Amino acid sequence: MKLSVPFTYNPLPARVVFGVGTREQLAAELQHLGLKRVVVLSTPPQAADAEKIAAELGELAAGTYTNATMHTPVEVTEDALKFIQSLRADGVVAFGGGSTTGLGKAIALRTDLPQVVLPTTYAGSEMTPILGETQGGQKTTQNSLKVLPETVIYDVNLTLSLPPGISASSGMNAIAHAAEALYATDGNPIVSLMAEEAIHALSQSLPIIVHDPHNLEARTQALYGAWLAGSVLGSVGMALHHKLAHVLGGTFNLPHAELHAALLPHSIAYNASAAPEAMRRIARALGTTDAAQGLYELNQKLGIEPALSALGMPEAGIDQAADQAVQKPYPNPRPLDRESLRELIARAWAGQAPQ
Ligand code: NAD
Repeated sequence: MKLSVPFTYNPLPARVVFGVGTREQLAAELQHLGLKRVVVLSTPPQAADAEKIAAELGELAAGTYTNATMHTPVEVTEDALKFIQSLRADGVVAFGGGSTTGLGKAIALRTDLPQVVLPTTYAGSEMTPILGETQGGQKTTQNSLKVLPETVIYDVNLTLSLPPGISASSGMNAIAHAAEALYATDGNPIVSLMAEEAIHALSQSLPIIVHDPHNLEARTQALYGAWLAGSVLGSVGMALHHKLAHVLGGTFNLPHAELHAALLPHSIAYNASAAPEAMRRIARALGTTDAAQGLYELNQKLGIEPALSALGMPEAGIDQAADQAVQKPYPNPRPLDRESLRELIARAWAGQAPQ
């Protein structure tokens, strides 16, 4: 293997506890951080489990806030802040997926309170210093070490209830981070190792999970892959695929993980000729010969909807998205060409195989 130099490697500080049943270490981890009065955060559907976690913590928990919402609306953050300040809490425990982690990060940004995250999906936000927030329908994204959680407790048991469909799309969302990390302009050999391993672990385990959601070994592999994928998302810059997902998700309000999953084979096909080493590694991780086709087939195996039209994107949006995709582009291995991008989006809209 030819080592690509020079590179910069800047690992982020985070403590990770990984295993089956590790949630039992939560109290010890809070004490490790010197926390005495935390608020447990969750979405409304996960409120009962959040209450249980708070009850188990006894005096270490000051209360629960169970109104975390997708895309981190600023109004929700302000409401949560009032609650947290009224309790004089000294930290937050985010129990859930990217929506709950987002709320914890938004609170940390404003207060510097330490965060402990118990992830229950494969989104990977817990490993990144990135925060996306929405206000008045506008999404803004920022990158700050202030929002990076102090401790992440991965407990495989907490992912067993994640429905098969969400597991599949959330896992493909994680694969998207890893795939783009392999051709990031600021990539490095360590991140590439982690990214390839993430794709391998997730692509091996997700097909088992969709048929057997309680398979502990597959769930362990998938969560391990999600951790790695989140780590690489937090370490290097993303490219065309994430730009397109941002444009399409924001403009047509498409579901986040499903959109990433359906779009990914097409973004990878677009970059295939310009990033041969990344393609070789993605294909190797998938156990196939063609990266884009392999991702398309993995989606099929997982029962993921391939057509953006079925997710709610109007056909008239294809041109609008192509216009927006070439504005303020992210760095990308293949130069952006509006006509080819239009074709990419049109294929994804129709759910055709990547080309
Ligand atoms: P989510 O957190 O919105 O969870 C999806 C749904 O699944 C929710 O209703 C939740 O209550 C439920 N759920 C979660 N875990 C469950 C479980 N184990 N069992 C049963 N139900 C469960 O979705 P997500 O995909 O985890 O996160 C998406 C959000 O995260 C988006 O807003 C995205 O922008 C953000 N995100 C941010 C980053 C970052 O680095 N900032 C990275 C990835 C995703």
